[in-house]
Amino acid sequence: MGPLVPVALVLTMACDEPASDPVPATPAEPFSSQLDRDAHSYANPDEVVVRHLDLDWDINFDQRTLSGTAVLLIERVADSAGTLLLDTRGLSISSVEVAGGAGVWLPAPFRLGDEDPILGTPLEVTLPEAVARVRIVYATSPDASGVQWLTPVQTAGKVHPFMFTQSQAIHARSWIPLQDSPGVRVTYRATVRTPAALRAVMSATNDAETLLDGEFTFEMLQPVPSYLIALAVGDLEFRAMTDRTGVYAEPTLVEAAAAEFDDTEAMMVVTERLYGPYRWDRYDLLVLPPSFPFGGMENPRLTFATPTVIAGDKSLVALVAHELAHSWSGNLVTNATWRDFWLNEGFTVYLERRIVEEVFGRARAEMEAALDRDVLTAELARLDGQDQILHVDLVGRDPDDGFTQVPYLKGELFLRLLEQWFGRDRFDSFLRGYFDHFAFRSIVTDDFVVYLNQHLLADGTDLAQVLQIDAWLEQPGLPDNAPHSDSDALARVEAQAARWANGDAEVGRLDTDSWATQEWIYFLKSLPESLTAEQMVELDEVFGFTRAGNAEVVHQWLLIAIRNGYETAYSRLETYLVTIGRRKLIKPLYDELVRTPDGRARAEAIYQMARPGYHPIAASSIDEVLGR
Ligand SMILES: [Zn+2]
Repeated sequence: MGPLVPVALVLTMACDEPASDPVPATPAEPFSSQLDRDAHSYANPDEVVVRHLDLDWDINFDQRTLSGTAVLLIERVADSAGTLLLDTRGLSISSVEVAGGAGVWLPAPFRLGDEDPILGTPLEVTLPEAVARVRIVYATSPDASGVQWLTPVQTAGKVHPFMFTQSQAIHARSWIPLQDSPGVRVTYRATVRTPAALRAVMSATNDAETLLDGEFTFEMLQPVPSYLIALAVGDLEFRAMTDRTGVYAEPTLVEAAAAEFDDTEAMMVVTERLYGPYRWDRYDLLVLPPSFPFGGMENPRLTFATPTVIAGDKSLVALVAHELAHSWSGNLVTNATWRDFWLNEGFTVYLERRIVEEVFGRARAEMEAALDRDVLTAELARLDGQDQILHVDLVGRDPDDGFTQVPYLKGELFLRLLEQWFGRDRFDSFLRGYFDHFAFRSIVTDDFVVYLNQHLLADGTDLAQVLQIDAWLEQPGLPDNAPHSDSDALARVEAQAARWANGDAEVGRLDTDSWATQEWIYFLKSLPESLTAEQMVELDEVFGFTRAGNAEVVHQWLLIAIRNGYETAYSRLETYLVTIGRRKLIKPLYDELVRTPDGRARAEAIYQMARPGYHPIAASSIDEVLGR
């Protein structure tokens, strides 16, 4: 910890505010019994734990700041604890006060430590005895890593600005001073003041009927980890889909979004039947502007989603199945540290497949699994051995480095192996019991292993060894008992691609009438690395890939276009990279471009235009590709 910062003068009114009475609905489990201190947080929840936040902000689009107060309800875990340690990044803190039960606010000594490039700056608050609340008056920095500010031209409607937060993995600390560890759960209330006519929404209770009068209030009654606290403000309309599902989006997008996502209720019914009740009341989706760096973010009650999944034919709504599944695997049972991230994502991909199978049929689930198996193979070839490990060691590294395909797809394969070994019925009831047992808790990999040993592996001797549990969790690569991912439909597509590539069939004679998006993607992936100019023209003329509307299909086509110098597609490439900021869709294109000097020059020129519209998370990935 660094030098002492002078304690700021307390200018706010000190003692006349009555104590509010925020009573968490469910007692929050502070952290796993087995949790060592989280390597990515300065906080000391083993001594003093934050249970609840009362937040109050003004949203200032001109200055690109949130400013206001955070009141933290604390509980001493260790009686002797004399300090509260919080995570911050780039916050301007103007005062820290403390109060006991009587509600009298008194200035408290605090100091900010040295700034760490990954972890940010620790905030240490000295706690007198009997203190129950800590009030921090602060403002965010305009370049807060967890907040993106969009100008009107960066939105669909072009008239109003837009802002949204992305707290995962450790970005909540850039807009709220808190214990920014997934092992700590809090309930929260918030008041948000916005410019008139805009709507604020949060990962909390949202009132779709509320007046757009510039002030919004929210309440999150279930305890959530900090990375699930989320806020967005913009020109947002609401469309109900059913009485517990709906969509918030910019007015020009809201109808299309509601149509695209109208299987959401069916997905909820399926997931509840398999894994127990949905425990978050409503499930709504927020469609963000295209700069959102992820496919989706499972903010509870309000999934944040990229508009690039609105394909017009529901072909990409596995994303909704995925984010909804997080309501069980992740939001309900949470990784306690970022090295346990596979507990969130591996389980969620497994659940996603099961939901897709129930709602869209087995063939589609098989296609998605087979496509992902290729993605995992490529990812394992790219990664160092240590990053191929599910229970990955991230000490000293940015937890965003752990966001590879490994926790998602290797994690899913591991669970599928268990399903195949024990049978679906048995594994389904195991999972249901697991979600009940650990509901609203944050756990580490070892908690899962103990539960697995007690409930499935106790069956027979040496089952852990037979199933190679240790190799799955602690070793690089894929164990030799990894399940196969076969899709008859994709095998037929591959055969057709080969016939065309070998000159055995003209492109117009291929049997593509019944192809789904997944088959088109696989067709493009199955083509030879190198194609002639004539072949590129032929494909494009017959199938119209350059002007296709489906963002995933176009992505796959643009990779081929770059690889083969197909100039006709370059203006689409430029538009694509400038208008979309979803990292999964843009980074591979930059990776492909920088393989040649011409391509690198093109990448630099496009990035010059595109970067201001990218989210900091996406921009930092592309900076790395371009060696900036
Ligand atoms: Zn996920």
